[in-house]
Amino acid sequence: MTAAPRAALPVVPQDGLGCHAGAETLLAAARDAGKSPVLDRYAADYPKGPHDRPQSMCPAFGSLRVGLRMRRTATVLSGSACCVYGLTFTSHFYGARRTVGYVPFDSESLVTGKLFEDIRDAVHALADPALYDAIVVTNLCVPTASGVPLQILPREIDGVRIVGIDVPGFGVPTHAEAKDVLAGAMLAYARGEAEQGPVAAPRVARAERPTVTLLGEMFPADPVGIGMLLEPLGLAAGPVVPTREWRELYSALDCVGAAAIHPFYVASIRELHAAGRPVVGSAPVGHDGTAAWLEAIGAMAGVPSARVAEAQNRFLPAIRGALAAKPVRGRVTLSGYEGSELLVARLLVESGADVRYVGTACPRTPWSEPDREWLAARGIHVQYRASLEQDLAAMEEWAPDLAIGTTPVVQAAKERRIPALYFTNLISARPLMGPAGAGSLAQVVNAAMGNRARFDAMEAFFGGVGRGEAAGVWQDVPRDRPEFREHYQRHLAKLARQRKAEEMV
Ligand code: SF4
Repeated sequence: MTAAPRAALPVVPQDGLGCHAGAETLLAAARDAGKSPVLDRYAADYPKGPHDRPQSMCPAFGSLRVGLRMRRTATVLSGSACCVYGLTFTSHFYGARRTVGYVPFDSESLVTGKLFEDIRDAVHALADPALYDAIVVTNLCVPTASGVPLQILPREIDGVRIVGIDVPGFGVPTHAEAKDVLAGAMLAYARGEAEQGPVAAPRVARAERPTVTLLGEMFPADPVGIGMLLEPLGLAAGPVVPTREWRELYSALDCVGAAAIHPFYVASIRELHAAGRPVVGSAPVGHDGTAAWLEAIGAMAGVPSARVAEAQNRFLPAIRGALAAKPVRGRVTLSGYEGSELLVARLLVESGADVRYVGTACPRTPWSEPDREWLAARGIHVQYRASLEQDLAAMEEWAPDLAIGTTPVVQAAKERRIPALYFTNLISARPLMGPAGAGSLAQVVNAAMGNRARFDAMEAFFGGVGRGEAAGVWQDVPRDRPEFREHYQRHLAKLARQRKAEEMV
C-alpha cells in the first residue's frame, strides 16, 4: 500500500459546535476544505426550511441504521467521540447487535491529514471478502467540515466495496434524508457495477413478473400487501430500498419502475432515473389512495386500463368495508419525521377522523404531491419541514382529541391532558397499505382517545405538583428563587461583555 501524501486540512474548532451552534462556521469550513460539490448537492436534494438543523436526533443515525441493517456490511464512523457515543448508544438501543467501527482523531491528526490515513488503514484492516460485501465509512460534522476526503479511499479492496459518505448535521436536515444519502450512494455504486458487466444474482429467486421497486422503510407486512395489489396488474413487488443486502441493489435497479412510498428518496430516485426507470409518488393507502396509485402504477408499467379497473374492483370494496367497520371519531393533529405522515393522515381522514394539521420534518417533493393535494382539498394544513414550534402551535390552536407526534410533542400534549401517541413507534410501525392497512390505525387511535378521563384524573390528583424548575424529587417543598435567576443572568451578561472586549483587543 502506498501512502498518499498528507494534505494539511483546515483547523476546525471541535468543542461546542455541531448541532448545538456554529453550523455556519462548520459550513464555511467545509466549503473552504473542498466539500462544496457534495454540500451543493445536498442543498438541492434536501432543501432547508425552518427545520434546518437537527431538532431531534443526529441525522447520521439514519444512514448508520441503514448500514447496520444490511447483511455483510461493516460500518465505520469518523467524527467527534461524543457524537459517536450518542450514535452507537442509539443504534444499540434500537437493537443493532453489530459492531460500529470508529476511527478516533485529535486536533493534530485532523489538521495534518493523519485521520484520513487512519481511516484508510482501518478500511484495509477490515476488508475481508469472507465477511463483507461492503464497508460504509461516514464522515460526521467535524471531519466533513475539515474536508476529510473519503472520496479518494480505494473503491474496493479484495472485492469489498468501500462507500464513503459525508453526513453532516449542517448539510443533511433529517435522519430520514440521511437514509437516502447512503441508499443513493449504494445504488450509484451498484449501477456502475451493473454497467460494467454481469453482477450477482439475488439470493431469493426473482419474481417472474416485472417488479416494482419500493422506496422507503415500512412495516414488514406492507411490501407483501403491495405485492398482492400488484398481482392482478401482472406485476410483483421488488426489493425495498434501503435494501437489506448488497445484491438486492441490482434487483432494485432492474425493475419496471419504482414507487416512492416515502417521498424524500431524492438521490435514490436520481439513480433509478439514470437507470431509465420511472418513479411514481404516493402509496396505496385507503380507498382513494389505492385507486389512484393502481392507476399511476398501471400507467407507468403500460398495463391496459381494463386490467387496472379489474384490480380496483377487486380491492377497493374491501378497503371501503374495512374503513367503515373501524371508524375513528375525533379531532387529530399529526406530525412526525418518518416521511409517511401524509399517508397516515389520509388513512385517518378516510376512517372518519377530523384531521386539522399534518407536519412533516421532510421537505416538499413531487412524490408527495398527490397526497398534499388530496389533503389540501379537504382543508387540511400540510406543513413541510415543520419545526417543533409549528407542531406545538398547531396543537394549541386546534385543541385535538388526540395529538400524534414526535417525543416532545407527545410530552407537551400529555402535560396539557391531551391524549397523545408517538408517531414513530406506535403509528408508523403498523401496516398502512391496501386492505390490511385500512382500519389498522383505528384500534390504537380510539384507545388513546378514550384515555382522556385518565389524564383528567391524574391532573386532579397531581395538579400543580412539580412543574417547571420545581420538578423532580425534593426533601422540602421547593421555593421559587428569582434572585438566583437574576444573579445568573447578570453573570452571563458579564461573560458576554468580557468576550466581546477580548474580541476587540
Ligand atoms: S455529527 Fe450529529 S451529533 Fe455530532 S455535531 Fe453533527 S449533527 Fe450533532
